[in-house]
Amino acid sequence: MPELPDDAHRVLDLGFVRLDGVMASDLSVANSARVSFGRRTDAMTDADRGLVRFLMRHRHGTPFEHNAFRFHIRTPIFVAREWFRHRIGSFNEFSMRYAEATDDFYVPAPEAVRTQVGKPGAYSFETVSPELAEATRETLASAYASAYSTYRELLDRGVAREVARVVLPVGAYTEFYWTVNARALMNFLSLRSHEAAQFEIRTYAETIEQMFEQHMPVTYEAWVENDRIAP
Ligand SMILES: Cc1cc2nc3c(=O)[nH]c(=O)nc-3n(C[C@H](O)[C@H](O)[C@H](O)COP(=O)(O)OP(=O)(O)OC[C@H]3O[C@@H](n4cnc5c(N)ncnc54)[C@H](O)[C@@H]3O)c2cc1C
Repeated sequence: MPELPDDAHRVLDLGFVRLDGVMASDLSVANSARVSFGRRTDAMTDADRGLVRFLMRHRHGTPFEHNAFRFHIRTPIFVAREWFRHRIGSFNEFSMRYAEATDDFYVPAPEAVRTQVGKPGAYSFETVSPELAEATRETLASAYASAYSTYRELLDRGVAREVARVVLPVGAYTEFYWTVNARALMNFLSLRSHEAAQFEIRTYAETIEQMFEQHMPVTYEAWVENDRIAP
């Protein structure tokens, strides 16, 4: 397992989120809106806080785009697939063509092994018995070990990484960088911190939400007041 970088927040069993870089402030929202009137300020005032709330309430979204959060994320491939559906943002991902896959695979904690109840569109997820949870974890670990050993065997026999990788399951960990502005981030959080989102991506979204709140507290509060709808 690769070492957890010092500034990373652990998510799931082997994943993490790091805020690799940030250029974001509530003031940038107020000033980019006020440029319409040829005005700017150097520090947040009560009027600026009111302006941010106004912009959020009336869904004037573009002033929330003049900032950037750059995240470094390690997550299972099935979570990354959900994440990459968010088109407003930039991604670069670890390549299993150019580098060998690690043997890191996601095994849910016992309490995260769940059963699906209800109809499409109205599912709920409930915990399973401790026995089934443990059996699921063991079955996954065994399938992962088998897939990874086949992967290694193919590499050893001279098969290209880009071909051998097809045997690896979506529980394999990947890494990517994601740069996103606050407007698209709020859209991501609306959808992925929501209880309807799959538990695993939601766990990442909840970690990222705290980072967003820390860097843009007025924007964050206005977004929460606005029923967490992105402007
Ligand atoms: C609970 C849940 C279940 C899901 N299930 C499925 C599923 O079964 N199958 C599936 O395929 N996907 C599924 N998705 C993914 C979903 O359809 C979206 O692709 C994903 O949530 C990204 O949302 P977005 O388009 O708003 O984000 P982004 O792509 O980041 O876009 C942000 C905003 O930009 C605007 N925008 C971006 N691109 C366009 C465009 N081409 N045209 C017009 N406006 C645009 C929209 O306003 C959009 O909201 C699911 C998502 C969730 C949260």
